[in-house]
Amino acid sequence: MGIAALSSELQANGEGFDYLIVGAGFAGSVMAERLAAQYGQRILIVDRRPHIGGNAYDEYNSDGLLIHRYGPHIFHTNAQRVVDYLSRFTEWRPYRHRVLASVDGMLVPMPINLTTLNVLYSLNLSPEEAEAFLAARAEPVDEIRTSEDVVVSKVGRELYEKFFRGYTRKQWGIDPSELDRSVTSRVPIRTTTEDGYFNDTFQCMPREGYTRMFEKMLSHPNIEVRLGKDYKEIREQVKYRKLIYTGPIDEYFDHCLGKLPYRSLEFRHETLDQKRFQSLAVVNYPSEDVRHTRITEYKYLTGQVHEKTSITYEYPSDHGDPYYPIPRPANTELFKRYQALADGHPEVTFAGRLGSYRYYNMDQVVAQALVLAERMAKNEGRKQAA
Ligand code: FAD
Ligand code: UDP
Repeated sequence: MGIAALSSELQANGEGFDYLIVGAGFAGSVMAERLAAQYGQRILIVDRRPHIGGNAYDEYNSDGLLIHRYGPHIFHTNAQRVVDYLSRFTEWRPYRHRVLASVDGMLVPMPINLTTLNVLYSLNLSPEEAEAFLAARAEPVDEIRTSEDVVVSKVGRELYEKFFRGYTRKQWGIDPSELDRSVTSRVPIRTTTEDGYFNDTFQCMPREGYTRMFEKMLSHPNIEVRLGKDYKEIREQVKYRKLIYTGPIDEYFDHCLGKLPYRSLEFRHETLDQKRFQSLAVVNYPSEDVRHTRITEYKYLTGQVHEKTSITYEYPSDHGDPYYPIPRPANTELFKRYQALADGHPEVTFAGRLGSYRYYNMDQVVAQALVLAERMAKNEGRKQAA
């Protein structure tokens, strides 16, 4: 039975649900699963999209290629608890993510590493020489506050402009000097030949894809899934005791304190009649001469063998679904005011990337959801189901 057709008629007994969960992404689905399976709670989970999985949703396109509808999602974490938990619903395919950047007509490793410097400047530096090379270019910054400071203080202005300035201006619609340091700090700078994009100990893809993993997570008999339903539409129609909201927190409060800014993306998905398009999964395009930030080729992520290949261009935009909370002081201040408002509404718990207005990766959302589900159940004095 497909998840869309799942109807446990949990409400038929007239008692309603223990929890209404808004959003069937990682945050909502993990909390649904935990509260149902561990604490025997009856859950209704709704999403206004026609599918589960939130932004991690993947699907087979009309050519039979597994693609990520909302851009490349690569799972990586240092949290063993998160791995152990998700491993109940999926097996894993080892995948170590590497990225190239298209700079000055060349394709070079990103994060910047020894190879990047040697190729870009036609040099043959050793790791020690590369360190000295960067140290000579790095600009001292008194206090590292912004995403510009982070990079300029490590590699100097030229490399900053080649790799970070344009990409960040396109991605966020503002200059790196206006963004919190946390944004570009996500990308390391290296002077060795290490070329992995992430440093995490666990880097894998769900073997049968994210959607399959979510289907398993939500298949518990105490969970009913309703898709294509907005919270505003459903809230008067069902009875429930508690609400978990994983959509944008400002939308829940009808933007009463003003709109929290989010950055969106347009995705251009293409299938090409050739086996390969590029030499690895992701190529970044930092130059402002082109509108897209990166191109992803999914076969590298999924391991799928196919005569054709599918790729996605990402075009950042101010319009469309809210994908990225924008980390900068004014936005954090406004979020804090919404959080204070939420404190006065104990009947609703906010979670996930949009509910928390945090630039969380998937593993961070899972970790938060596990903690919140446990805390909510315990606060209600719930015992673990046998
Ligand atoms: P979401 O996945 O956004 O789910 C929230 C759901 O709530 C949505 O499906 C939405 O439709 C629904 N919803 C909202 N409001 C309502 C409403 N009023 N009524 C009904 N439904 C509602 N993380 C990584 O770890 N690795 C990566 O490689 C990675 N790549 C990414 C690439 C892109 C392009 C993006 C945008 C994100 C990426 N992430 C990645 C981050 C990852 O997508 C998030 O951390 C994670 O999916 C967030 O889960 P969530 O449940 O909080 O939110
Ligand atoms: N970034 C950049 N150039 C790159 C890659 C990343 O300037 O080639 C900056 C950019 O601001 C980006 C941030 O680093 O938004 C974080 O990059 P990451 O790859 O983690 O972004 P995500 O996958 O979350 O979109």
